[in-house]
Amino acid sequence: MSSDASQQPFLVFGAPRIEEDEIAEVEACLRSGWLGTGPRVAQFERDFAAWRGVRSSQVAAVNSCTAALHVSMVAAGLEPGSEVITTPLTFCATVNAILHAGLTPVLADVDPVTQNIDPDAIEAAITPRTRAILPVHFAGRPCDMDRIMAIADKHGLMVIEDCAHAIETEFHGRPAGTFGDFGCFSFYVTKNVVTGEGGMILGRDEEHVARARILALHGMSKDAWHRFGDKGYKHYQVVECGFKYNMMDLQAAIGIHQLARVEQNWQRRRELWQRYDHALEGLPIDLPAPPEAQTRHGYHLYTVMIDEARCGLSRDGFLDAMNAARIGAGVHYLSVPEHPYYQQRFGWRPEQWPQAMRLGRQTVSLPLSPAMSDGDAERVVQAVKVLLGR
Ligand SMILES: *Cc1c(COP(=O)(O)O)cnc(C)c1O
Repeated sequence: MSSDASQQPFLVFGAPRIEEDEIAEVEACLRSGWLGTGPRVAQFERDFAAWRGVRSSQVAAVNSCTAALHVSMVAAGLEPGSEVITTPLTFCATVNAILHAGLTPVLADVDPVTQNIDPDAIEAAITPRTRAILPVHFAGRPCDMDRIMAIADKHGLMVIEDCAHAIETEFHGRPAGTFGDFGCFSFYVTKNVVTGEGGMILGRDEEHVARARILALHGMSKDAWHRFGDKGYKHYQVVECGFKYNMMDLQAAIGIHQLARVEQNWQRRRELWQRYDHALEGLPIDLPAPPEAQTRHGYHLYTVMIDEARCGLSRDGFLDAMNAARIGAGVHYLSVPEHPYYQQRFGWRPEQWPQAMRLGRQTVSLPLSPAMSDGDAERVVQAVKVLLGR
């Protein structure tokens, strides 16, 4: 690169694309005097349900995907200590939510190519105490839901899909999050649809969703809009010991317009993805596996594998050099058993899940945001090529 890297603006990893519509809606929300859970959350729920082809009574907005996972598992009514099989290649929130619900996480290794939980490993992990499977559609690539649902049916297990990366994902023509008992979505700042912090529960069973909605607001039978709204004050009853997980109208104000542009942003990330695929071909790094036929990839994370033996550079050295080139990169993820908490609590060692361990130690996520220009993508490509000596 001819220009001095330190002169370049920092390319923020996962920067959201915020436009005037979001800004105007947030302002209108502030001026309306109603910031909390109310009409904008209701509209966001209706829009989300319509877009995923489900009824409004099948969704409930919450303040994070972590909250969505937690209350889904509480609403599922699994007895304490039940085992939930999930992937070691995920964000800690997936496993923490299982623990907060009073359940026991069991890890099943991933497929080295798709990076998704391996159905054979799920079967091998089933015990008499297994009650649920929690697949993560990693990077936006759908898990093999035919096989996972067949395993669940055979053993009578619930399925909770972690769709934090998978808002647009489809498997054999059907949206991610609609296969299992619950699908849990994230609208965190780096995700494909953004509300700042935010999440959505999508449930097959309307009664489960209704219970999750109550659990997400202290266990109260009526939310504030239905107590203080224009229909006159209404008493509520506390019917469960719930949590404080409701989404605010201020957050939904952003989400309504983000969701309206979900396809446009997906197209842009696909363009960037294909640009990386072409430009990085032939380098001594593994690129993401091509999307599978009859599926729709969510294009959430573009991950490359930095194998020190092939690259002459460690993964962490690569990250440092990208940072020096003023490009934000990410790691998704160090495998769950690399972290001391789980090692101490469960005696887990990373070597027990060798595929997730290797991927977690080699993986780097390149920036893939719809806010990026072609020039930004070119900067990333050139930086990677220089680092790998091409
Ligand atoms: C981001 C993420 C979550 C948590 O989402 P929040 O909305 O931040 O709580 C859970 N699982 C995975 C796989 C994620 O990437």
